Amino acid sequence: MTGQITLLVVEDEPQMLRFLRASLQSHGYRVVEAITAEEGMRLATLHQPDIILTDLGLPDFDGLELTRKLREWTDRPILVISARGQEEDKVKALDAGADDYLTKPFGIGELLARIRVALRHTQRTGEAEDPVFELGRWRVDLSKREVRVEGLEVHLTPNEYKLLTTLIRNAGKVLTHRMLLKEVWGASAGAQPHYLRVYMAQLRQKLEEDSARPKHLITEPGVGYRLKLE
Ligand code: CA
Repeated sequence: MTGQITLLVVEDEPQMLRFLRASLQSHGYRVVEAITAEEGMRLATLHQPDIILTDLGLPDFDGLELTRKLREWTDRPILVISARGQEEDKVKALDAGADDYLTKPFGIGELLARIRVALRHTQRTGEAEDPVFELGRWRVDLSKREVRVEGLEVHLTPNEYKLLTTLIRNAGKVLTHRMLLKEVWGASAGAQPHYLRVYMAQLRQKLEEDSARPKHLITEPGVGYRLKLE
């Protein structure tokens, strides 16, 4: 990897901005800062950051609107920072093209992990995908459509398999209910969010050691689901 990774941080709270700046710089990232959405737009054009972090509540227009505007011309990852209780806004931001979100308060470990996942997904575009996905006790061979848990083959229905492979393709990232329904059942199928709950419960039964305490098939309350890697 040549050169530093540049992050644009759009955040109006001085304390939060200080925390982000200090943590990111100490981990080798170059940080560009904006305290309004308008300034964020300008600096995004000027610096072409590798990744953008934006707060949802900003003084001029909000992070959701900023995400929409950025998505008109850039496909760089966007991470949204939100307060607890802003589930609806998080979902809107994700559906508008944000890659992931962090809920305040969050630790530096979580922040760095999300940044790594987001960057990995952009860097992987265009590269040949490994047909075998391994995670803990799981081994999924995408070329053979074969799922094994601790070496034993598990039978999945076509929709369960589609749901699992959608999560695998986006491993580590949150997917909203709407994204998952569209991927698995198609845009026009009129599928309902409760389908997802049912299929996710079935997948957990088949793949998780303890389906009541899933390690990898994680519910993001009010938002969607995530395939957790660690
Ligand atoms: Ca704010």
